[in-house]
Amino acid sequence: MEQELKTIYEVQLIETQIIESEKKRFSAPKKIEEMDRELEELKARAEKEKAVIDELEKERRKKEKELDADKDKIKKIEAKLYDVKTNKEYQALLKEIETAKETNDKTEEDILILMDRIEDLKKEYTIHIEHLKKRENEIKKEKEIIERDLSNIDKTLSELKIEKENLLSIISDDIKTIYKTLIEKRGGLAVVNVKNGVCLGCYMNIPPQLFIEVTKNNSLITCPSCNRIFYYREDS
Ligand SMILES: [Zn+2]
Repeated sequence: MEQELKTIYEVQLIETQIIESEKKRFSAPKKIEEMDRELEELKARAEKEKAVIDELEKERRKKEKELDADKDKIKKIEAKLYDVKTNKEYQALLKEIETAKETNDKTEEDILILMDRIEDLKKEYTIHIEHLKKRENEIKKEKEIIERDLSNIDKTLSELKIEKENLLSIISDDIKTIYKTLIEKRGGLAVVNVKNGVCLGCYMNIPPQLFIEVTKNNSLITCPSCNRIFYYREDS
């Protein structure tokens, strides 16, 4: 019986590996999808920021052209000052120059405000682009690891399943049936250890007399609370 208990415990170890591998295989595409989505979001943010910067640059260039045109206009009016005949005309031209200069001051102010905003946005944009590049590199490496794992996982899984069947084939039908039922009903954990009188499957105390029996590993004992098969090991 002791050998059979040890074997069913070994089956459980393999079973746990199978469950872990299947979980990994199942979650890998989701993980890749999540990483791709993260990158897309980072790219979209950077593109949006770039578009805003471009728009503001366009606005700044437009204002600079306006400013140049207005400065030319003032020069032309100033030239006219020498040709005027009457004081009234002269005063009118001075007024025109004054208005044009006020407009220019306003345009210059607008340009400075635009330049400040552009500078701030560019700083932020640079930080975001650096973060994007960093994540692109990290994700590329993470994906390589996942893909390498995935390519091995199917091979590993079929090997583990063969090993499990081989071990199960030397176990009596009774124990095999109990084992398979427990695997199904107890979340993939059918064989457990007992530590300090506590079942490591359900963490309930078991009677001291039963614990002593369990430590002998010479009969099939199941947990009074969760029905799992006990296989005693001192190590864990
Ligand atoms: Zn239990």
